[in-house]
Amino acid sequence: MATANRSTRQWQSLDRDHFLHPFTNFSELNAKGSRIITSAHGAYIEDTDGNRYLDGMSGLWCVNIGYGREELAEVANAQMRELPFYNAFFQTAHPPAIELARRLAQIAPGDLNHVFFTGSGSEANDTVVRTVRLYWSLLGQADKRVIISRTNAYHGSTMAGASLGGMQFMHAQGGLPIPDIVHIGQPHWFKDGRDEDPGEFGLRMARELEKKIDELGEHRVAAFIAEPIQGAGGVVIPPDTYWPEIRRICRERQILLVVDEVICGFGRTGHWFGSDYYELEPDLMPIAKGLSSGYLPIGGVMVSDRVSRVLTEEGGEYAHGFTYSGHPVCCAVANANIGILEREGIIDNVRERTAPYLQKRWRELADHPLVGEARGLGFLGALELVADKATGAPFDKPGKTGLACREHAFDNGLVMRAVGDTMIIAPPLILDESQIDELVGKARKSLDDTMASTA
Ligand SMILES: *Cc1c(COP(=O)(O)O)cnc(C)c1O
Repeated sequence: MATANRSTRQWQSLDRDHFLHPFTNFSELNAKGSRIITSAHGAYIEDTDGNRYLDGMSGLWCVNIGYGREELAEVANAQMRELPFYNAFFQTAHPPAIELARRLAQIAPGDLNHVFFTGSGSEANDTVVRTVRLYWSLLGQADKRVIISRTNAYHGSTMAGASLGGMQFMHAQGGLPIPDIVHIGQPHWFKDGRDEDPGEFGLRMARELEKKIDELGEHRVAAFIAEPIQGAGGVVIPPDTYWPEIRRICRERQILLVVDEVICGFGRTGHWFGSDYYELEPDLMPIAKGLSSGYLPIGGVMVSDRVSRVLTEEGGEYAHGFTYSGHPVCCAVANANIGILEREGIIDNVRERTAPYLQKRWRELADHPLVGEARGLGFLGALELVADKATGAPFDKPGKTGLACREHAFDNGLVMRAVGDTMIIAPPLILDESQIDELVGKARKSLDDTMASTA
């Protein structure tokens, strides 16, 4: 490998000197140095010191079919030789983008029959903001501009993406949110509703949408955007009452429903989309991550007939696009990725076999003294670490225990992520039962080590 010629310390020092990392605490990085990952196969990654880790996070929620797929490398190679790039502006197109658009229309729920391609999930959500406002303005309702989102939501890191997101620490950097984006509460029962019946809590949080629409005036509200399950916010699984109530409100009101499937899409819940699991009919549906299993950057927004009809019949020129909208190599690889998901029956296997097993084993961790709640759905899981198991009370210094647990997990050969004091997993969908046992065993050991080191 071309990367074998420097020592770990040399890599770390060059990294510190030149590489401005995304979402990284620089003082921590400078004090400790990065882990330098060099290769990956199946569900495992390897670093410059030869340590091997079970990747409980699928990279960043994206490597759904696992690492090391030769087929994707070959498809990318062939497409680069045939047509490495051409744009889709000004009435041109190419087979890989058309083929992928057709296939996405087949697997997407409802009448999401068109797709606008982007390079990422953030760009997809920028596209959402512009598209929903354009839609209402083409219908003569230019005042319908406000988009309602939720606190602690994650919709990306561009100006619009971070504004739609509900992360205060992100808003604080750069004077966000941009105008006409507002937030309601999140259906996080463990955090915000523990002394309430979960079903009642779910209804109450859903009805915040109705209240907000009334407060603003329906004539001003363009859309509601939400992840089926909040991912980066800490794998927040809404109570069963939540989505049916949101569905009712969206049916009764003239607003668009935008379901951000960047994490839940492409099999994460054991269905093609989280919208299939929760029986949602999105008007727009941002996708990315699992679309290519992370092998190349690509995202998009799936658009329903209701919306695409207005854009294509009333719209004239759509003044929006990225150089890499529908990049041929990315599209070819995404196509092959979907082909693998289908051919190997990966999503059916998750739904019928491995997700039930993962969820059963993951919930066993609820008996651990540090764990206030163990929850999950499909190939997503979360553990709430708490100071007092009986009351669920949080720690005095939020985030410290989570970080310690994440470091112990690394030491034990497992990648788990810490969101404050919530430990989360989103492993590759190809994990078999013995690898699920390995994951849960290493997670338990990491909890034990955390107890011992923070006691
Ligand atoms: C990751 C993520 C995004 C942003 O995608 P990028 O490709 O990082 O820009 C948007 N929405 C959700 C739900 C995500 O998890």
